[in-house]
Amino acid sequence: MEPVHIEPFFAALAAANPEPETELEYKSDFELLCAVLLSAQATDVSVNRATRTLFAAASTPAQMLALGLEGVQAHIQSIGLYRSKARHLLQTCQLLIERHGGQVPRSRAALEALPGVGRKTANVVLNVAFGEPTLAVDTHVFRLANRSGLAPGRTPLEVEHGLLARIPPAYLRHAHNWLILHGRYVCRARAPLCGQCHVVAWCDSAPPNAAASAPPRP
Ligand code: SF4
Repeated sequence: MEPVHIEPFFAALAAANPEPETELEYKSDFELLCAVLLSAQATDVSVNRATRTLFAAASTPAQMLALGLEGVQAHIQSIGLYRSKARHLLQTCQLLIERHGGQVPRSRAALEALPGVGRKTANVVLNVAFGEPTLAVDTHVFRLANRSGLAPGRTPLEVEHGLLARIPPAYLRHAHNWLILHGRYVCRARAPLCGQCHVVAWCDSAPPNAAASAPPRP
């Protein structure tokens, strides 16, 4: 993608969805951290189904610890890898209390020191909870960045660095959610909906004539 096309690419995503939001359900920074931790290799829908009952039973690190391993597992057993996720969740709660007064830290190093919290989870929490211009590269963002030519790369980290270098600063705050939602619902893994794509005019992989049937530019 030509550098000159990146601004209109994001302007179109912004016009179509000015305030994009994560589809994970949460009421606090702690619940967001838990939901993102649980979402690895799971859909947001399945995580929300589990956390509705989990957060009703425990919405603080102390309450989560009081539930115990079997108690947490009982709420999240429909999610893949639930045994290790439950263990990591409780270890994380213990460290939040010991190191951070029960609060979610606003620091990449502190977040990545928590069990089960990797770079992607830290990026989501820093962006969604604290408004930091970080960019989590999940499967949808990775696919869209490569397919469109926005920031091609062989690894999520390569794509993340490419995106951070190429996205105009004014769009960085919401870029994470715009790209995830666009990748999830429009630039799908199988059968991307190029005919309904707001950024078809700037995409390297747009099929011939797709722009003709695409929605008008916002
Ligand atoms: S034009 Fe097609 S391939 Fe390009 S971003 Fe849109 S949906 Fe994806």
